[in-house]
Amino acid sequence: MRMILLGPPGAGKGSQAKNLSAALSVPHISTGDIFRANIKGGTELGKQVKSIIDAGGLVPDDLTVRIVKDRLSEPDCTNGFILDGFPRTIPQAQQLDALLRMEGNAVEVVIDLVCPDEIIVGRMSGRRMCSCGRTYHLVSNPPRMEGICDADGGSLYIREDDKEPTVRERLATYHRQTEPLIAHYKLQGVVRDIDGTMSIADTTAVILDAVRK
Ligand SMILES: [Zn+2]
Repeated sequence: MRMILLGPPGAGKGSQAKNLSAALSVPHISTGDIFRANIKGGTELGKQVKSIIDAGGLVPDDLTVRIVKDRLSEPDCTNGFILDGFPRTIPQAQQLDALLRMEGNAVEVVIDLVCPDEIIVGRMSGRRMCSCGRTYHLVSNPPRMEGICDADGGSLYIREDDKEPTVRERLATYHRQTEPLIAHYKLQGVVRDIDGTMSIADTTAVILDAVRK
């Protein structure tokens, strides 16, 4: 199964990719995870990516495509993969199409996790973190005492990425840059629209049902 997960930031692509990877026995490939691992490991690629991000830039399509190409050539991708966070732009999608075509393959299914902006903003702006690594959510997983970590009494804080203006900016980028991919893949007849407002487990079940048909 060669699958791409699309959907706005905060729609739960990472959780779905993890569940689907286990259910379908294909690797979950997250370009974000690959970048982070390389930055942490201090590799040449990591240094390159870090200097771009630190300067406020976006990792160029060519570099991202090269990384994905390397990853897809590994033996565990023979029977498929789940891409999460890639492609993000039309040029990336076109290059992925060309890459797969060279091997006589194609993207088989694109899951479009549909989730309204207001729900995303509610989900993300309710997140609270503790420096011990525990995470909370004001609605779905509140701490016993407001603003205080259950485990160690630490003060909870909001990550910069979860603040409403940041979330809205990322959503705007998604609508402008990545949403056009849905039309691109609709022309190939491979898009499945999935309601992304359900629980993680229900969403996984609906996706599995859709792709096994
Ligand atoms: Zn804590």
